[in-house]
Amino acid sequence: MNNTMERTRETMAHAVADLRSILVSGTLDTADRDDVLGFLVEVGDLYRQVEATLVIGTGVIEKRSASAERFDVSSDCRNPNEVMQRTTGAAPTTVKRWSRLAAVVKPKRTLASGEVRPAEFPALREALTTGAIGADGLEAATRPLREIKNHVKPADLAEVDQVLAAMTTTTGAPVMCDTLRDLSLRLAADLDITGAEMEEEKAFRGRALRLGIKRNGLVPITGQLVPDVAGALSVLLDSINNPHGQPAGVKFRPTDESDEETDVRSMAQRNHDALGTILAAVPNAPDMPLNGGGAPVLVIHSTEDTAHAGEGWASIPGADGTGTDVPVPFAAAKHVGCCGTIQHLTTSATGRIVKLTIDKRFFSPDQRRAIIARDRSCVIPGCHTPARWCEIHHVTEWSKGGQTTTDNGILICWHHHRFIDRMNWDIRMDNGVPEVRPPGWVDPTQAWHPTGPRIAATPKRHA
Ligand SMILES: [Zn+2]
Repeated sequence: MNNTMERTRETMAHAVADLRSILVSGTLDTADRDDVLGFLVEVGDLYRQVEATLVIGTGVIEKRSASAERFDVSSDCRNPNEVMQRTTGAAPTTVKRWSRLAAVVKPKRTLASGEVRPAEFPALREALTTGAIGADGLEAATRPLREIKNHVKPADLAEVDQVLAAMTTTTGAPVMCDTLRDLSLRLAADLDITGAEMEEEKAFRGRALRLGIKRNGLVPITGQLVPDVAGALSVLLDSINNPHGQPAGVKFRPTDESDEETDVRSMAQRNHDALGTILAAVPNAPDMPLNGGGAPVLVIHSTEDTAHAGEGWASIPGADGTGTDVPVPFAAAKHVGCCGTIQHLTTSATGRIVKLTIDKRFFSPDQRRAIIARDRSCVIPGCHTPARWCEIHHVTEWSKGGQTTTDNGILICWHHHRFIDRMNWDIRMDNGVPEVRPPGWVDPTQAWHPTGPRIAATPKRHA
């Protein structure tokens, strides 16, 4: 055996025995303050040097296990981690940490090709091998650099390495890990100006929004938003889902605090409906061309034999990623019937177009203003979605001859408009004044109620 290793083993055996007797005898309990401090400083020296040996030792075992020698297998272990566990009693996770740190301070290597690969942090490696820092110090110094090291110049990284290593020997006392980490974070942030530029470059290339192909009645949407777009969307979704800073929900006894939340939508469903609301509101924005962009064209295609509105499927052109006509159930057709353009296309049994009518179902800006003045917000009690986020709904639907007039139009939010049939709310006009009848689970009396600000007596809701 190498003489130095032999001698060190003997010295360590003595030191271990001495430490053991100090602990067993309880000497620390009674030693005076300066002796305790001085003793701990020396133990700290030993501790860091031992840690350095374990980190570098782990790297050596790994390297020799990967070579023809197969250090691990020839030592009856499955892998280098087990070698370290068996020899030191350390936990597998501790050995993994040594292994990770060993990789950070690999010495420069000569590759088979003759090329020399430099050590990544040669100065910090030296700080480790000389015991100026242990595993914790190495981790604190290098962790902030891990993310940026692949996109900063090697020369910049080498300088950071030297500044950090110099910090470990400025005083006689060991450097504190927090000090090292703070300095490393600051240096990394200085270098990461390049990182910020690169992130912006990646965002520029990676930004995307895609509509997929309709499956199971839904069109998947995928993409990646730049943070400012995501932020703007998130603010809008919040303001629609939460117009008064509290969760919107249909409540028929607004004063009764025991009323449980009756909006049963999940957050994801609310976000979906809020997006629908935003898209419906865009054409109403002051600078938008009238009828511009927001409402889809609905094509109701039927054969002469079944030329009866309400039967079968309709289609919306370009409503998914295929860019073609996408079949939609008639429930969606009703919704478009209030705010979009409808083409009734009738073909013969052989496919010839026999009739095409085009019907625009938009309330004019004047009609809209009048209806907003009357209804103020979504007419569904408890909804409170403000007028600017609402649509105008034909109470008597277009397929049943409903007119685009103020006496047949009410203010309603996208969510209640789109799913009004599913949710079993009924709406009627009483001499030009809207009235609603809630579903049985909200109001078992099934009475008709005036809407919005006109609500007076609120009937009891039974459990
Ligand atoms: Zn509503």
